[in-house]
Order: sequence, then structure tokens, then C-alpha cells
Amino acid sequence: MTSNQSIQRIRNIGIIAHIDAGKTTTTERILFYSGYIHRLGGVDEGTTVTDWWDQERERGITITAAAITTNWRDTVTGEEAQINIIDTPGHIDFTAEVQRSLRVLDGGVVIFDAVNGVEPQSETVWHQADAFGVPRICYINKMDRIGASVDRTVQMMREQLGTDPLLLQLPIGIEDSFSGVVDLIEMTALTFTDELGAHPTVQDVPPDLMAEAQAARATLVERIAEADDELLEKFFEGETLSNTSLYQALRRAVIANKLVPVLVGTSLRNKGVQPLLNAIVRYLPNPLEVRPVKGVDPKTGDPVTRPADPKAPFSALAFKIVTDPYVGRLAYVRVYSGSLKAGSRVYNVNRGRSERASRLLQMQADQRNEIDVCVAGDIVAIVGLKQTFTGETLSDAGNTLLLETIDFPDPVINIAIEAPSRADQDRLHDILNKLAEEDPTFRIHFDTESGQTLISGMGELHLEIIVERIRRDFNLPCKVGSPQVALRETITKPAKAEGRYIQQTGGHGHYAVVWLEVEPNERGAGFVFENRITGGVIPRQFIPAVERGVTMSIENGVLAGYPIVDVKVALVDGKFHDVDSSSTDFEVAASFAFKAACEKAGPILLEPIMQVEASAPKEYLGNLVHDFGRRRGDVARLDTGGEQIHKVHALVPLREMIGYATDLRSMTTGRGIFTMQLDHHAPTPEDVTRRILGDYFP
Ligand code: GDP
Repeated sequence: MTSNQSIQRIRNIGIIAHIDAGKTTTTERILFYSGYIHRLGGVDEGTTVTDWWDQERERGITITAAAITTNWRDTVTGEEAQINIIDTPGHIDFTAEVQRSLRVLDGGVVIFDAVNGVEPQSETVWHQADAFGVPRICYINKMDRIGASVDRTVQMMREQLGTDPLLLQLPIGIEDSFSGVVDLIEMTALTFTDELGAHPTVQDVPPDLMAEAQAARATLVERIAEADDELLEKFFEGETLSNTSLYQALRRAVIANKLVPVLVGTSLRNKGVQPLLNAIVRYLPNPLEVRPVKGVDPKTGDPVTRPADPKAPFSALAFKIVTDPYVGRLAYVRVYSGSLKAGSRVYNVNRGRSERASRLLQMQADQRNEIDVCVAGDIVAIVGLKQTFTGETLSDAGNTLLLETIDFPDPVINIAIEAPSRADQDRLHDILNKLAEEDPTFRIHFDTESGQTLISGMGELHLEIIVERIRRDFNLPCKVGSPQVALRETITKPAKAEGRYIQQTGGHGHYAVVWLEVEPNERGAGFVFENRITGGVIPRQFIPAVERGVTMSIENGVLAGYPIVDVKVALVDGKFHDVDSSSTDFEVAASFAFKAACEKAGPILLEPIMQVEASAPKEYLGNLVHDFGRRRGDVARLDTGGEQIHKVHALVPLREMIGYATDLRSMTTGRGIFTMQLDHHAPTPEDVTRRILGDYFP
């Protein structure tokens, strides 16, 4: 096989779904039908392959695969492909992770629940996928559920996603009687009768569906033809279009983001998954069919592109770092161009240093395939990279290219965490460091004043899951406090103050005096340090120590210990002693001066304001709006277009959103859902400030 042929076989895909739509169940069926696993578990019994944690416990296999590889042969066209399924997390708290995975995948399968239709998170992710230009196919799952409707789901996709989906199948039966699908291109009926759905029977279209199927096929063919110049001509000339030409044209249209095919099924009842696999092979792009990767020349900043060619210089993006309990630290990379041999050195462009990629692994759920070489298009896990982190570029040392890094939002929620005993403290810190390395949106912070360890993340659920992992996977029953909003501090006016650190009794003394001026910087502009010392009142070698003293104390603000942001600091005066002064003395004096100056500079608290979208059946809309009012929220917009589900968009301080998931459930008898993301930081109102500071100084 030539190298291009082997790249053409690859499909790097992600399965994208709102929580509970059936991502885990569908992934497991995919792995089962493709012969990759030999027995079906069930999500509800906690035995599915991709249910990482339960796996770890019950079968002792890796919990950390970020990508799984399997193979499938299209049962209609006979085309074979290697499908790499890249894990995309299914909850809004993890949009940063979703974004990161969207960067590295070439195509997506978006799963909808046939009863709930388009849920808010699917909408967010859909638009992200639009932004990254990711070709998609859709799968309407749960056709067996009472209330399932293809028409309604398709209608919601039109209204809420702004896409005009292309239905490739008609369901045969619905709810309890759903038994299979009519393939509108082949004009055959596929029914899944055996318990595992492993041997679908292909029959003629049932007579009662014939008229509907013929009409649907006519529309389908017309829309495919319209999307393809070549076919359109033939179509107008009245030529019959072969199924093969329809497949090819549809493939081109999907890859060009012109058409979005829709399939239907029920993964739990083992019906409809094989046609989905066919569609992945048939319509989603291989790495040669996506745009060549773009980056910049790190020396000149000039844009550079690299073709997905094994002979081009090597370039790859590390998209996830995990600690595997058996193999150790793994860097998951997407190879964009060139090739890399196991055991060779690779250049990390972000860090400007080379490392040895000692082993290359292709991850399968229950085993790791060691490979000798990885090439353009591959997703592999590299063992041996100690200094490579998420979002960094690996490249050929002689031909460097820097790919766009992945930006992660700052965490907004903190909780205090404590080891079960003093003896476990170091272990807890080790575990936390490992987890922070895996997940760039998770941070650890030691509060020097309270002696507490705080962990921060993107939302309550994010931290709950991390705590759960520490308890279950690492078997450490840690204690946690209640969630607190990660606030910030800033100043509102200029001020100047002195810091003195003088101790000169006996032996080698300490002597440093520092005068600092602080003033507010623009919101979001960060921290700036300026040295205005003239005439050597502080010798040059001590200046970096002064800056260090400031950057250290900026982490613990003067009001309630939150980081101070957006402040300009100038070193304006000071004194030193020929013998007694040291760098450490200046560090200490600078931190005293900085604190004293900030205290005089009108310090305030800033709180995260979230963009919230809550949706629920329309009878609850009034309640939701009213409730946002009580939470200091500003309702920005109402979407009342959909027939059933209405939506409120609001800006609400995160502090007021703690516990919202539970409140929303009880307000809407479990039918409401919401998503939120950080919009900006704003000063806290006075009464809230007082309440927050009261928490600190009761
Ligand atoms: P995920 O959160 O998207 O990974 O969804 P899961 O695969 O964990 O499924 C969520 C729930 O929906 C589980 O209780 C599944 O058993 C159930 N489920 C998944 N697929 C189907 C289906 O086709 N029909 C029905 N009735 N339930 C399903």
C-alpha cells in the first residue's frame, strides 16, 4: 500500500453529544460491530468500554484513552477505513476540552436524542464546529423512546442550528415498534431482528412506506445534485444518477460543509449503528481531504502551511496529556505532516528544546498497540515526552513550524481540598499535580494565609468529577469544602507606599527599603512593572528581586486573598546597605510595599459574570426569568421561536449560579437544562462585597 493509500483510509472523528444523548452507548456499539470488543456491556450496568472509570475498576484497563482506534468496512461500497475516535467530553463545563478536540479531528458525528431533539449544549458545540469548519453527520438516537420524532428533531436542527439537514433514511416503525430504516439511496429496508442487531436483513422497501420513500428519495437526489456542479448538469439533462455518483457527490458536499446527512437509530436496542459506521467511512473526510494545516514560522512569524504528506517535514500538535496507570505519561498528538520513528528525537517548538519520543502507541480500549512509526494523519500517544504540554507543537528541528496554541479560559470556581490525614498530604499533592497536567483548565493554588489547598475549575461539575476521580481512581478519600467563586481583586486609584525590611542586631543583618507606586491598569490589560530608579539608590542587581516580591504577593490580594489583576507598579525609590542588603531582603520589602500601596489604592473585588442559557418547556419561562432577577441577573434575550422549548439568555454573576442545576431541576420538574460560560469580570456591588468579606473576617 502506498503511504497516500494508507492516509486515505484514516477517519479522525469525534462523537459529539449533549450529556445523556447516548454517546457512550453508541461508541460502544461502534466498537462492538467493528469487531473491536466481543461483548456488549451497557452504560446502565457500568461496563461500557469508553466509560473510563468503571473500566479501570472492573477490568483493570486504561481509563485514560483520549483516542481509540478501530476498523470498519462499508457494507455497501466495500471501502475499508481505520476510524480513530477522539474522545470529546459531553458537558458544557468542558467546552475548553471540546474545543481542543475539535482542533484535531477531521469530522464529527453529532448525536441527538429523538425525544429531546436539539439541546442547548449541542447548539454551542455545533457553532464551535462551524467555526472550525468540521464536516458533520448527524445521528438521531433513541428512536425507541416514547415521543421520539424524526420530523421534530430535524425541524429543531433547522431552527436552532441554522442547518438544513439531509435525511438519508426513513424510520421503519417508531417507539416500541421501531425495527430498522429505509436506505433512501439504495432503496432497501434494513431491519435489525437478532438481539445484538449484528446481522441486519436487507429487504425491499415495505409497500406502505414506498410512496413516502420515493418522494423522499427524489428530494434527496435533487439536493445532492444541487450541491455538486458535475452532478447538477447530468441531473438537468435527465440522466439517471448512479448510487456511486450520489455517494461521491454527497461526500464532496459534506466535506465542503455544504450538506449535513442525518441517520436514525437506537443504539441501546442495537438498531441502526452499522449504517452510521458506513456513513462515517463514506462521507467524512480523510486527512488528505481537509485543509493543509496552517502555522507560523517561529523565527519570522510568517504563515506556513504543511500538506498532509508523510514526506513533508514533521509537524504535530499535542492535544492531551494523561498519566496512564501502566505506561506513565502519555502525550496524545495529532500528526499533521511528515513522520516520526519511535526512539527518535523530536523538537518542541514552544519550548525550543528536543526530547526523545521513546515509544509510540495506538490506543485501543483494552490494549495498546506499539507502532514503529507514525505518519501524517495519525493520532498516537507518545511515551517519553516529559516537557511537552497540551497545545504545544512538535516539529522537525530543521524545519520548524508553530501551530496555533489552544487558549484555555481561566477557572472560575474554587473548592478547598484536604487529604484524609497528614500522612496522605504529599500523595494528594502529587495526584493534583498530575491531574492539572492532564487538564489545563484545572488549577491548584496554595493559600499561604489559610494554609488551605484550593483547586479551581470551569464549573461545579468539573470539580465534582475531579474529586470523584481522586476518591475512586486514586483511592484517596479526600475531604472538600463547598464551592466558592474564584474572585479577583483590583485597585481603583493611584497610591504610593514604603516597605521596610530592616534587622541589624548582631551577625549578618537584613536591610532593604522600597517605595512603590501603584495605579489601575485597563481591565484585562494585566500586570505591568516599571523600574524608575535613578542614581543607584537601589543597585541594579536587586531590581529583579523587587519585581519578584511584587509578582509573588500579587497572587494573594489585600481584601480577601484573591489574585490582584490589572495593576501598574512602578519602583520609584529605596535604600540599601553595603553589607547587610540581599536579594531576599528586597523581595520581602517589595511585597510589604506592594501590599501597603494596594491597601491605600481603593481595592475592590471583581466577580465572574456568566453568559447563561436556560431552556425549558414554555410554561416555565416566566419562572426562569423571575428567578434570574433574584440572582442579580440581566435577561438579555428570550427565544420563544421553538414550539415546545423556550430559552432565556442572561448575564448572571457566577456567585448566584452555585447550585443552579438543582434549583432548575426543581423549578421545572426536571425538564429544564442550562449552559453557561464566562463573559467578563465586574466589580461586586457593595452589599455583596460586604457579605464576601464577612465570610473571610466574620
Ligand atoms: P452519554 O451521556 O451521551 O454518553 O449517554 P449514554 O450512552 O450514557 O446514555 C445515556 C442514557 O440513555 C443511558 O441510560 C442509556 O441506556 C440511554 N440510552 C442510550 N441509547 C439509548 C437508546 O437508543 N434508547 C433508549 N431508550 N435509551 C438509550
